[in-house]
Amino acid sequence: MTVHFPFQNSYSALPDSFFARVAPTPVAAPRLIKLNRPLAVQLGLDPDVLETPEGAEILAGKTVPAGADPIAMAYAGHQFGQFVPQLGDGRAVLLGEVIDKDGIRRDIQLKGSGPTPFSRRGDGRAALGPVLREYIVSEAMFALGIPTTRSLAAVVTGEHVIRETALPGAVLTRVASSHIRVGTFQFFAVRRDTDAIRRLADHVIARHYPELLGAERPYHALLGGVVARQADLVARWLLVGFIHGVMNTDNSSISGETIDYGPCAFMDAYNPSQVFSSIDEMGRYAYANQPRIALWNLTRLAECLLPLFSEDQEKAVAKAQDILGAFSDTFSDGYQAGLRKKIGLFTERDGDDALIQDLLDAMAKNQADFTLTFRKLGDAAGDPAADDARAQFMDPAAFDEWARRWHERTALEPQTAAERQAAMHAVNPMFIPRNHRVEAVIQAAVNDDDYTPFEEFVKVLAKPFEGQPDYAAYADPPLPEQRVLQTFCGT
Ligand code: AMP
Ligand code: MG
Repeated sequence: MTVHFPFQNSYSALPDSFFARVAPTPVAAPRLIKLNRPLAVQLGLDPDVLETPEGAEILAGKTVPAGADPIAMAYAGHQFGQFVPQLGDGRAVLLGEVIDKDGIRRDIQLKGSGPTPFSRRGDGRAALGPVLREYIVSEAMFALGIPTTRSLAAVVTGEHVIRETALPGAVLTRVASSHIRVGTFQFFAVRRDTDAIRRLADHVIARHYPELLGAERPYHALLGGVVARQADLVARWLLVGFIHGVMNTDNSSISGETIDYGPCAFMDAYNPSQVFSSIDEMGRYAYANQPRIALWNLTRLAECLLPLFSEDQEKAVAKAQDILGAFSDTFSDGYQAGLRKKIGLFTERDGDDALIQDLLDAMAKNQADFTLTFRKLGDAAGDPAADDARAQFMDPAAFDEWARRWHERTALEPQTAAERQAAMHAVNPMFIPRNHRVEAVIQAAVNDDDYTPFEEFVKVLAKPFEGQPDYAAYADPPLPEQRVLQTFCGT
């Protein structure tokens, strides 16, 4: 049996300045630890063949499959506000693209597959912990219905990577609708290569925004499209308590997918200024800052596109500002509509925004668990005697006062209690990848070579909106001694 990848590569056909041709570096003893079988099928790959030793060698970068055209993509980026003119794939190689079962072009990329011309001082490798973390969280995001890159496979390499200590090395096979970032445009903008920006923009429109192909002003429409998708994405993050942690422009995807799971985390107790990342000392990427940062990143994208807008700089800037101006409303509309659904409202009335804000304020003040408060509120919608939502509040009376107003508001709608509960349970997950669980799963794998907890966790997170009573403990917030206060970059 040979592994067949139906590659149809388009990025590697772009000009040479877009990437460096580089093959993955072979590793000692690849061992497959996880294959995402449903995703393999979606991509037109045979999961049984991928699970053979030959498949593991490909997923570890030891052999390059027929039809692959391995490249490391060039990009620049603002990291914590500081511009770096050349970053690029320093530890990832794009094997190629396939067209999936829905006709969507998807990148297949090996992350941790060895040095590239963009590695700078890095070793091009990834440690097992961050690979498992990305696998868990990206697949959890997918199950939550949030646009994201996916994880096709994780392999251990049989080699060690040297970080603070020697750690088992691993490779993640990442799948994305593309790996084009805001930083990809910045790479050419800083080099004043307007032809390349136009080439890239045309590629992006054809690939991610085909509906704009006939637009009178396609580059304006492109910026508008990215603004809309990013605004929608960040609203969705906030609605599940997700903190990306490193929203640099090189980690901001043009397709509107969540990309680069480094120090990301879901919050337990609701706290708008929550930060987990050890390197985010100023709280630049704090939970509630994420919309502002997304707009900042999009403004950097707009700057790159200015030469395509108009020869007249002033006109181009005015147009860009106009388009960026839509971010705020698109974000707020998505966020407020999502929150209305989270508290079980079917209609929109004056006073709803205040009702919601008062709940959030009370949650913050009372260290209420974000996920469980909304989930248990669904139970309370079905049965007013259910008091688990109330139990999330340090001072339960703060909840009672709010709940009285909420019951008055929901009574204005014709839906039955059961209908409201079902609607709420469909948007308020029971299970999220809580930090302490992610850490425990990683420890078992790294220290004991035990992947049973990882497997079980991934299985539970695949159905975040289902009750799954056998796995109820996965819904629990950490005990005080289990709390994870900091997360770290994967590098
Ligand atoms: P990240 O923090 O993963 O977004 O990475 C930022 C930049 O550092 C990207 O250009 C990565 O390719 C590069 N990078 C991160 N880790 C490594 C590594 N171990 N070896 C080489 N380059 C790396
Ligand atoms: Mg990155």
